[in-house]
Amino acid sequence: MKEHDMQITLSTTKKEKPQADQLEFGKQFTDHMFIMDYTQGQGWHDPRIVPYQPLSLEPSAMIFHYGQSVFEGLKAYATPEDEIILFRPEKNFQRLNSSNSRLCIPDVDVDFALKALKTLISVDKDWVPQAEGTSLYIRPFIIATEPYLGVSPSKKYQFIIIMSPVGSYYKEGIHPVKIAVESAFTRAVNGGTGEAKTGGNYASSLKAQEVSEKMGYAQVLWLDGVEKKYIEEVGSMNVFFKINGEIITPALNGSILPGITRDSIIELLKHWGLPVSERRISMEEVHEAYKLGHLEEAFGTGTAAVISPIGEFLWNGEEMIVQSGETGELSRKLYDTLTGVQTGKVTDELSWTT
Ligand code: PMP
Repeated sequence: MKEHDMQITLSTTKKEKPQADQLEFGKQFTDHMFIMDYTQGQGWHDPRIVPYQPLSLEPSAMIFHYGQSVFEGLKAYATPEDEIILFRPEKNFQRLNSSNSRLCIPDVDVDFALKALKTLISVDKDWVPQAEGTSLYIRPFIIATEPYLGVSPSKKYQFIIIMSPVGSYYKEGIHPVKIAVESAFTRAVNGGTGEAKTGGNYASSLKAQEVSEKMGYAQVLWLDGVEKKYIEEVGSMNVFFKINGEIITPALNGSILPGITRDSIIELLKHWGLPVSERRISMEEVHEAYKLGHLEEAFGTGTAAVISPIGEFLWNGEEMIVQSGETGELSRKLYDTLTGVQTGKVTDELSWTT
């Protein structure tokens, strides 16, 4: 499929854009969206940019029944020079295809998807907010649309991209959060769908999140589903620990989502010459380090917050305070560097931006 195959229908009315201080995550959407259809035997066809609007689907569309869907999340940032920057966007479309493969959804062409996204952004470029800390959140997703109640891969899909201007994640400055280690619920297991970005993973995580919020914790730390021993992720972020100078993140094992922020941090730490390990790490090991005074920092990583420092873990009834509940030096340096590169304020030494 070529770029010139794309039909563009511009909206005749323009929505009012929210003020920078009124931006809420994922509530307001830009004037346009991208859609492309898939029909078995025909492949992906009819790519188009149209005004943002409701979808018309049959109630029997397979997405409503068996959850065959995948999604992505990335951001576009405005630079001080009024350019628009994307951070490693090809990684998101590559991961979309990995998720597709797990969910029996046909692949999309990464180059074409990227061109479609860039065209959509240029149509809605006035929606990329300029204020410090703000960005345009981009949500590509694919849903199974065949009207059929049999449990099998759909023969029809829609690939859609919508975009939402978002405010600063840290309105009052970067601050550590309290985390409850989850011992009852499981996010994902080896052989399951944990490494795919598919709706069901998020639906099944809601209960644990609800329980931990009631206890006054921001997120849960997910452990492996078999022994409830090894650390996997934190909320919908990957997780890092700094123990006695070594920076450790759980190795990708099939049930962990391969985060693009995670990958970028590993590369950045190596670039800085710091010791970083991708390996199995148990809650016992973290607790032991804590008791010895060797647990120097802990933080979550993801597109939304970039770096989310962890100030406390609740584990087996014990409150473990990290860095006296303050943001650690490494967390801050990583946050400043990554957000600096993403907004064009820090030199992009690793050539990540487009
Ligand atoms: N884990 C989960 C379960 C997630 O949903 C996300 C957000 N996509 C991440 C980790 C972090 O991934 P990324 O750095 O690509 O945003």
